[in-house]
Amino acid sequence: MTTYRYDKITIDTDNPNHNAQLEALHARAARLLCTCVEPPLEMYLARTQAGIIVKRMPDTGPRHAPTCPSYEPPAELGGLAPCSARPSSKTPTPAPPYSGSAFPCHDGLADQCLPRTTPAHPAIPPRHSPAS
Ligand SMILES: [Zn+2]
Repeated sequence: MTTYRYDKITIDTDNPNHNAQLEALHARAARLLCTCVEPPLEMYLARTQAGIIVKRMPDTGPRHAPTCPSYEPPAELGGLAPCSARPSSKTPTPAPPYSGSAFPCHDGLADQCLPRTTPAHPAIPPRHSPAS
């Protein structure tokens, strides 16, 4: 059972007359209040093929009581956060073919490379030293 409030009117979704109430409220663009939490959360009415439905305001899902049909877990708890993150922001930028540094940088890690004066690997000495 979900109970909404508008002014002094209570709309109970178990009440067979609630559709008529919603029709009347939709006609005057009324905003309902979801009473699952205190203070109540504002809701709006939308017309669908099935009739008038009560919808939560954008981004208010996590603020409803977990028992409320309008409740939506926060994105970070829903397991969808990594999927909803913009994938392009995580894609490393390929390094240019030749960056001009003293040693090759790994792709996308150019900013983590050591300064040019301290190469990661010391230069391999030539196999044959000049004879003296
Ligand atoms: Zn609610």
